Amino acid sequence: MEHSVSRRQAQRVMVGSIAIGGDAPIVVQSMTNTDTVNAVGTAQQVFELAQAGSELVRITVNTPEAAAQVPRIRELLDQKNCAVPLVGDFHYNGHRLLTEFPECAQALAKYRINPGNVGRHRKGEDQFAMMIDAACRYHKPVRIGVNWGSLDADLLARMMDENAQLPQPHEAAVVMREALIASALGSARRAEELGLPHDHIVLSCKVSGVQDLIAVYRELARRCDYPLHLGLTEAGMGSKGIVASTAALAVLLQEGIGDTIRISLTPQPGGDRTQEVIVAQEILQTTGLRSFTPMVVACPGCGRTTSTVFQELAQSIQSYLRTQMPIWRKQYSGVEEMNVAVMGCIVNGPGESKMANIGISLPGTGENPAAPVYVDGQKIVTLRGEHIAEEFKKIVDDYVMRNYALKTAGKKIRREIPIQLV
Ligand code: SF4
Repeated sequence: MEHSVSRRQAQRVMVGSIAIGGDAPIVVQSMTNTDTVNAVGTAQQVFELAQAGSELVRITVNTPEAAAQVPRIRELLDQKNCAVPLVGDFHYNGHRLLTEFPECAQALAKYRINPGNVGRHRKGEDQFAMMIDAACRYHKPVRIGVNWGSLDADLLARMMDENAQLPQPHEAAVVMREALIASALGSARRAEELGLPHDHIVLSCKVSGVQDLIAVYRELARRCDYPLHLGLTEAGMGSKGIVASTAALAVLLQEGIGDTIRISLTPQPGGDRTQEVIVAQEILQTTGLRSFTPMVVACPGCGRTTSTVFQELAQSIQSYLRTQMPIWRKQYSGVEEMNVAVMGCIVNGPGESKMANIGISLPGTGENPAAPVYVDGQKIVTLRGEHIAEEFKKIVDDYVMRNYALKTAGKKIRREIPIQLV
């Protein structure tokens, strides 16, 4: 069930077919970590991210060779029927790449411009203008993406000097936060002066500290109506990155701030890049803001579950639901709101299982080796033996077919397929 948090009213920006801001749902995006020169490898990773649910995918465009491959990447994705919009990430030489590679400029759906990395003084102004000129020429939106680690040095130095002249100077951290906001808003204003429409601009001000991120975005949200891209930059690896990102984003999202999010996780060596998409979706889903995939409620287990059967089943069900979702999403309306409970013993198992759409209560240590299954609050069968996981998945499949409307059918169809008792 999606919760109604009163969202800040942001201007709507279209990125290809995806809307950011306005009354559009909060958009999940991600970024590749392949060498963009490797068009096949990059297209494959974009495809995987899109399959996992990323609605926009950003790619690095850092060299002429990379820019030359962007149209090819777009083509490869189109061949796979993958329409996910591509965002180009530019630093230092974006003005040149967007000018010298018009097919790249055309193939991208949005340009990310970091005002701290476009050059300094007059040269920087000219190079920024060249990028905005490309955006205007190809009718593309831009994200003005300010980052703590690459903040405009001249702007920061000037604001620090001005602060030092005050009778009661602010702390340096306060000035840095204000410099981030000033850089984003000043660059957006300049882009509009150069002819970029107001509804072609998204802003971000990423920092790596949770409290700083919250403070910066609250202020940014107060001062403009551009849609805001949220993300804790350099969040880190594993649970630290996930927890820090969730802590920061949950507060802002609950206050109605944020129109698109990305979770900047450092993958484990050889790890799966799609994890950042899954975490982004789970933040939105567990906060009740948007549903993506059926949720599994699983108890943590305790001394009553001394075997690994329960953990294995919970993991197996979770990954089965996620694997099925690309198919179910196309076929069935509302399936992403299904709740499945996998519980370890009789203490909370039946109660929690009855509250889910489908629930299974496994036998704890010393209990009768039987697993009652509940569908919409009613016990329908008790599973026993070696194949509980497979039998339970079959019940889930049947439930999806019986209870969610076929998308092509215009109205909800409840098919009379009896649940097979096993
Ligand atoms: S439901 Fe049972 S196994 Fe799970 S945490 Fe509670 S007491 Fe432990």
